[in-house]
Amino acid sequence: MELNRRGLLQVSMGGLVVGCTAAPSGSSLDGPPLVPIRARTDRIMDVSVCLRPFRPAGPRIETERLGDMLVVHNYGHGGSGWSLSWGSSAKAIQLALQPGPREVAVIGCGALGLTSAVLAQRAGLRVTIYAREQLPLTTSAHATGEWTPDSRVADARAAAANFGIVWEEMARSAFKLHRDYLGLPGTPVEWVDQYSVSDAGQTGAAASSSVARPAVDFVHYGRRIRDLTPRWREVPIGATPFKGSSAARSEIMVFNIAGYAHTLMNDFLIAGGQYRRVDFRAPAQIAALGHKVVIDCTGLGAKALWKDETLVPIRGQLQRLIPQPDVRYGLVYRHILTVPRSDGLIVQSFAGGEMEGYGETNETPDRAEADQAVRTLAEAFRPGV
Ligand SMILES: Cc1cc2nc3c(=O)[nH]c(=O)nc-3n(C[C@H](O)[C@H](O)[C@H](O)COP(=O)(O)OP(=O)(O)OC[C@H]3O[C@@H](n4cnc5c(N)ncnc54)[C@H](O)[C@@H]3O)c2cc1C
Repeated sequence: MELNRRGLLQVSMGGLVVGCTAAPSGSSLDGPPLVPIRARTDRIMDVSVCLRPFRPAGPRIETERLGDMLVVHNYGHGGSGWSLSWGSSAKAIQLALQPGPREVAVIGCGALGLTSAVLAQRAGLRVTIYAREQLPLTTSAHATGEWTPDSRVADARAAAANFGIVWEEMARSAFKLHRDYLGLPGTPVEWVDQYSVSDAGQTGAAASSSVARPAVDFVHYGRRIRDLTPRWREVPIGATPFKGSSAARSEIMVFNIAGYAHTLMNDFLIAGGQYRRVDFRAPAQIAALGHKVVIDCTGLGAKALWKDETLVPIRGQLQRLIPQPDVRYGLVYRHILTVPRSDGLIVQSFAGGEMEGYGETNETPDRAEADQAVRTLAEAFRPGV
């Protein structure tokens, strides 16, 4: 995301550049004063690294026969797995229902496995999840937790001609199902204000000149679903605790990952679902379980299990500050994004642009990077506020 100043404020979100409505007259925000984030390195309670499961062609949602067993693949969602989860899983369930099964197995217990399992139960099937790890240990547990349905989801040069249409169907149906989790105990899903602050003199062009040009032409489909999310509007900077030259505000859907995962797992178990811990080394082990229909939600694990060499890991690191419940807004400042989740205030650096971490498998957290990200965030606030 970048902020440019060309007459009107402009905001670029994943390639989508949208005009920003000018600031209202007056010098106050409509709402309570914003509490500054306590951006101190000694408040970092966790630094985690995970690998996004990226496929240049986009997620694999298709069937394969293994003897008597129908395998429905549902993996490879890059940086959009939580966002697209329900929509992608709905497509996988449609394929799984075709032979008329009464029960299915789901392999994997991340965002895609859990949403596939819950949707299969809603379709009246008995469901067993088999997975090496449950959600607190999966990639899905280490996501930022924002509605980002077109984040690193496909390479425009490798995706099928109709992928944009398929993506839009998934995004729209996922959006509706996420909405059903608003207002529930544990706040699995919520909407929060998000501010974007620019420094005087730091134009979007200057900010992006240090970012390497991507070697992958990541698709950007924001315009297709523009009607789903609010616009950015300029707000009076003096009414905020930020020290930049201008600020804009929008609203964003946030997934409180811990609460969302807990809710989905509980819903699955309450509906009679079974969970078995298994580490499959080969498809033959899955076939030996005797299920007629299997939904494969193994994320990056599909590279080894199904020999899908098109899967590319994209490394990402998150810092979590101790939760600050009075901070109810997200912030984009320079190359830093923050998300006020209930399980910690997420701080993420985008200094390297979309290609950052592409092809990297190193999952060791970089503490120096974490400290630098938090120090940059601290600079967003006026001294003494
Ligand atoms: C830093 C970062 C930030 C992100 N932020 C966001 C965001 O804000 N919004 C968003 O929508 N997405 C985001 N993502 C992307 C998102 O996290 C992934 O797309 C998503 O987690 C993929 O989910 P999954 O269920 O396919 O895979 P996983 O969560 O990896 O789950 C795979 C499951 O399969 C099991 N498995 C794999 N192989 C085997 C095997 N051989 N035998 C048995 N079990 C197996 C695993 O144990 C696990 O249970 C982010 C990713 C990263 C890294």
